[in-house]
Amino acid sequence: MKLVNGYDIMDYARKYGYVLPAFNTTNLEMTYAIAEGLMCADLPGYIQISSNNLRLSCPEVIAMIAKDAVKKSETPIGLHLDHGKSFEDVKACVDAGFTSIMIDMSHLTFEENVRESKKAVEYCHFYGIPVEVELGALRGKEEDVVNESECKTDPGMVGQYIEDTGCDLLAVSVGNVHGLCLNPQIDIPLLARIHKESKVPLVLHGGSGIPGEVIWEAKKHGLIKINYGSDLRREFIRTFGEAFVADHNEHDVIHLSIDAVKNVANKAKELVRMINEH
Ligand SMILES: [Zn+2]
Repeated sequence: MKLVNGYDIMDYARKYGYVLPAFNTTNLEMTYAIAEGLMCADLPGYIQISSNNLRLSCPEVIAMIAKDAVKKSETPIGLHLDHGKSFEDVKACVDAGFTSIMIDMSHLTFEENVRESKKAVEYCHFYGIPVEVELGALRGKEEDVVNESECKTDPGMVGQYIEDTGCDLLAVSVGNVHGLCLNPQIDIPLLARIHKESKVPLVLHGGSGIPGEVIWEAKKHGLIKINYGSDLRREFIRTFGEAFVADHNEHDVIHLSIDAVKNVANKAKELVRMINEH
């Protein structure tokens, strides 16, 4: 299959009642592993990469690897920009063949945030690509920035924010956290109130550590996409770390890289099954 357009993958998820996992990649190995995990489970989802992780390569390189990785897929897989931090990044990813986009202008004032998000939305919509925006802030480590405070999504702002930005998906802060160390307590009643105000489907960032039962409950309140970064990254690093601990002279990169792909793929497969098979 080719990479699947973001609107089509959401239609597919709604038709068959799936929650779509979005797995964060950084490099070639993670990208192949994510595609492999989804293909083994025969369930749809996204490969995604953040602006921060694009520092190592570039949108064209990641898009090329992702296209190759999904060639044999019989399940829909999209390529998503996670936490797009500038209009230039959004444009570069759309131009490279990404199939959906998140714009994160949380570093700006609210008015600037709305204006810049809207500009990105207009660009993406011209090319038929859906856009995710975020309202509220998550605790935890967002790439390199540690955020100690939490600012849960205000349901009273949801309708207007969606209207003003023209977004297609809304990422919410309801007790979910970025990273692995913190214990997420998902506020389902708040999610339900947000869902009532939202005409677009909802997204949870910081999926690592959220139990299946909570995700299945969240699905009843508009959840369509859930992001996983830390769980997969830990598998990747563990593979190399354990080999080094076992033998300080270990130097078989290809063997370990293939193992890393296998281990990350297994974790992705386990997670996509956990959120959808119950
Ligand atoms: Zn995030």
